[in-house]
Amino acid sequence: MRIAVQGAGIIGLSIAWRALSAGLDVTVYDDDPARGASNVAAGMLAPVAEAYFGEADLLRLSLASAARWPEFAASLGEVGYRDDGTLLVGRTGDDLRELARLFQLYTEWELPAEKVDPRALEPALTPRLRGGLLTPGDHQVDPRRVLAALRERVPVRAEAPAGVDVTVVATGAWTGRPGGATAGSAPGVGAAAGDPAAAGGGAAGPGGAAGSGGAAAFGGAAAGLPVRPVHGEVLRLRGKPSIRHVIRGYIDGKYVYIVPRRDGEVVVGATTAERGFSTRVTAEGVRDLLDTAIEVLPELADYELVEARAGLRPGTPDNAPLIGWLDDHTLAATGHYRHGVLLGPITAEVVTALLLRQEPAVDLAPFAPGRFS
Ligand SMILES: Cc1cc2nc3c(=O)[nH]c(=O)nc-3n(C[C@H](O)[C@H](O)[C@H](O)COP(=O)(O)OP(=O)(O)OC[C@H]3O[C@@H](n4cnc5c(N)ncnc54)[C@H](O)[C@@H]3O)c2cc1C
Repeated sequence: MRIAVQGAGIIGLSIAWRALSAGLDVTVYDDDPARGASNVAAGMLAPVAEAYFGEADLLRLSLASAARWPEFAASLGEVGYRDDGTLLVGRTGDDLRELARLFQLYTEWELPAEKVDPRALEPALTPRLRGGLLTPGDHQVDPRRVLAALRERVPVRAEAPAGVDVTVVATGAWTGRPGGATAGSAPGVGAAAGDPAAAGGGAAGPGGAAGSGGAAAFGGAAAGLPVRPVHGEVLRLRGKPSIRHVIRGYIDGKYVYIVPRRDGEVVVGATTAERGFSTRVTAEGVRDLLDTAIEVLPELADYELVEARAGLRPGTPDNAPLIGWLDDHTLAATGHYRHGVLLGPITAEVVTALLLRQEPAVDLAPFAPGRFS
């Protein structure tokens, strides 16, 4: 069986590496790997701090993946894996009420979290903070190091290979987009189910028609999957961070995270906006992120601002990924929204199990690609 993985972000590469390790014949293709969200992600592995009301299935998947990360990271070498935990901090009464609401949720779901004095753990934080929560099980990794390590192990080509039996669609925010994930659908894959008009434009773009024809020109079986781009701006600073925890600040109704790496990089993020496929960075986004981050951790004012970039999170209607067969020749592994780095190892494992026609380690029913139809 010849397998093509479409998309060389963290999801496609993790799947390919796992499937290759299981002895499968896998080729990855991507015409522009630099555009993927995986290149800008902060790398928080935060199943608890990211846990949210109504997302219990996603939490179970996230916890399963977080448990696999230490081994996954170790097998890739030095990828900036760090297990210092996350510190959630608040300043105003409303901020503290939000933290209390989250703490109640964590308690109900029996997740590891404790109330702490933030400055007792991180003295460099502003004295204006009035409360905090520690989620010690949340970790972090450097996604760029992970991508580099995976690319060393998994060759990526620009063009779709011919004679493929199964295509794994791992095209992130571009899934189902005419001329995006649709372009270069692997020849030999059965033509699609699905209404072309539902693919998001009603007409195939020039790229969408290339090499596939018919319904496949609209993305094959992936056409109409409800994945949309969710714009997120993120900054990279450089200095000598005196903090070791990932900080998530709830400051006067604004939210910011600060991710310190051992090599001196500090990631500050992130905005959230619906702007189609634009990856423009706005002055307002950068200003708000810097203002709030410096408010939380004043030492950042002296750091070098190295990079401001925007990425496209692959959003879905319920914020959970789409993992499963679309037809006999097409498997979806997309829509990981805010959690694609965290969910890499478990996605790779369950997709490989599906390819091998084995029972996946977790129940995939809540993540069935057809659950919204
Ligand atoms: C600002 C920001 C911060 C984030 N922080 C975190 C975090 O801290 N922790 C976390 O877990 N997640 C985080 N995320 C989310 C995470 O980045 C995504 O969920 C994850 O990167 C999705 O990975 P992917 O491989 O599905 O998609 P991508 O990385 O976007 O890769 C998709 C690939 O598909 C390719 N492609 C598209 N169309 C085609 C085609 N027709 N043929 C071939 N290839 C194609 C693209 O070129 C691209 O390389 C963050 C996201 C953003 C934007």
